[in-house]
Amino acid sequence: MMKVVTAYRCEHCEKKILISKSGMYKHEAKCFANPVMKACRTCSNYTIFDREVINTITGDQMHDGCNYFKKSFQEEGFKFKHFCKGWKPAEERNW
Ligand SMILES: [Zn+2]
Repeated sequence: MMKVVTAYRCEHCEKKILISKSGMYKHEAKCFANPVMKACRTCSNYTIFDREVINTITGDQMHDGCNYFKKSFQEEGFKFKHFCKGWKPAEERNW
């Protein structure tokens, strides 16, 4: 017989779900969607590039990047960051 469990969903990204409450506290503290962390997902510089722009950067067709650094997240070594110097608060965003 299956058992029912309690799980915890991140209030910021609303995607991450964990069984561990303490694990979720840890996740929320560093979640890229937590505005306190000044990370890409709450930043107005985060952008979905159109295909032409991406082709000039990486040659592939992936779609997200940063308008501040003018880079694609598909580039080697360019990743989501916390406390980014280019961070500006974004309007409420639907992911
Ligand atoms: Zn999260």
